[in-house]
Amino acid sequence: MRDDVLIIGGGIIGVSAAYFLARAGVGVTVIERGEVGRGCSYGNAGLICPCHSTPIPAPGVLTQGLKWLFDAESPFYIKPRLDSDLIRWLWRFQSYCNQSWVDTAVPLIRDLQRASLALYQELIEEEKLDCHFERHGGLALYLTERGFAHGRCEAAELQRFGLQMELLDGTAIRELETAVHPQVIGGIHYQEDAHITPDLFVTGLAAAAQAHGATFLTQTELLGFETGNGRVTAVQTTRGERRAEQIILAAGAWTAPIARDLNLKLPLQPAKGYSITVKRPSNAPRIYLYLGEAKVAVTPMGPHLRFAGTLELAGFDFAINQRRVNAILRAADGYLAGSGERELVEIWRGMRPVTPDGLPYIGRTRRYQNLIVAAGHATLGLSMGPITGKLVAEVVGEERPSFELIPFQVERFES
Ligand SMILES: Cc1cc2nc3c(=O)[nH]c(=O)nc-3n(C[C@H](O)[C@H](O)[C@H](O)COP(=O)(O)OP(=O)(O)OC[C@H]3O[C@@H](n4cnc5c(N)ncnc54)[C@H](O)[C@@H]3O)c2cc1C
Repeated sequence: MRDDVLIIGGGIIGVSAAYFLARAGVGVTVIERGEVGRGCSYGNAGLICPCHSTPIPAPGVLTQGLKWLFDAESPFYIKPRLDSDLIRWLWRFQSYCNQSWVDTAVPLIRDLQRASLALYQELIEEEKLDCHFERHGGLALYLTERGFAHGRCEAAELQRFGLQMELLDGTAIRELETAVHPQVIGGIHYQEDAHITPDLFVTGLAAAAQAHGATFLTQTELLGFETGNGRVTAVQTTRGERRAEQIILAAGAWTAPIARDLNLKLPLQPAKGYSITVKRPSNAPRIYLYLGEAKVAVTPMGPHLRFAGTLELAGFDFAINQRRVNAILRAADGYLAGSGERELVEIWRGMRPVTPDGLPYIGRTRRYQNLIVAAGHATLGLSMGPITGKLVAEVVGEERPSFELIPFQVERFES
């Protein structure tokens, strides 16, 4: 079979690319080894959050991770192991844990997220996507003076970049959101942010892409490639061989092992996170909350309420660690008024694709003229999905991209 464009991966990134390409009249097929939107894009916290534009590598992050190494309930964990990819990744990662990198990366991440939020609003309206989109901002909450001081520092840092947020004391917090526990001493209102139910958006956008002419082949797994003359000439899948003018690799955390087959070195670590979705209690918050000390997000999603957190660098280990799941829920009790009994809907884990500098890979590879990569969006893939899809469509169409793509170059870590 021959396609104009073949996309590998049906998560928020692959689906967004398929949508913008199909809308531009390009013949596009997505292959997805499972079902569309059931990878990391399924159970995440649902935040579209310009106010969280700090890259993962930042001063003190690695030191904190090392302190938490032996704490089974910590929000950040590195599983100690002799894995040369992890060791090389950590070596690169630590080289970005400095203020100068934060100053470079924040405006890049902020601008992608702001552009994506505008696209969310457009797409939801134009395609009539029902995904519980709400734009009332979010609230970071703190229980301790130490935590609040840290939160204020982070907020001051981000305000330097023009991000809109306001410091609130405990009383002002409870006026804004009655679901907050009386022991919360203060917080930060992230005024630019929004939230959605992620899987509803991804499947809705996939249906819209299909209506514009895109084809989705689910239960179809990529097996390998044929290459020649600086091009990917064929793609083998569990449902036969496909050929395409252009190939887009958007396989989330699985992008690195796939790229390795093509002799491309894309440092990328899977970072496991959990979410626990419960039926929405009567006293659920109206806006999303970020529990400062616990590093847990609490998002109202239509009939549900979702708690999400932890970042574990433990390779592709999909095991659910019940202690970490319990720690997320227990932490929430301290911040939410009258938490009480919760009616469980689903416990989930997913693998975020994390690059050493915290920026995604977006663009054409140098090695293969017809291969484009769009992956590595770490903790912000949902938020950056639509703008990434638009950028990919611009690269495919050889148009001038809406953003300068040099910081996101695919082979930037190849020496
Ligand atoms: C707990 C948690 C909370 C999060 N909260 C947020 C948030 O609030 N806001 C935010 O912006 N981001 C959040 N994220 C991050 C976000 O979920 C990811 O960055 C994003 O989903 C990545 O999208 P993706 O399309 O790159 O990958 P995925 O959604 O994982 O999609 C990749 C797809 O590729 C497919 N695939 C892989 N290999 C193959 C193959 N060989 N053949 C065919 N198909 C293949 C997979 O099946 C998968 O469906 C969170 C993540 C976690 C874990």
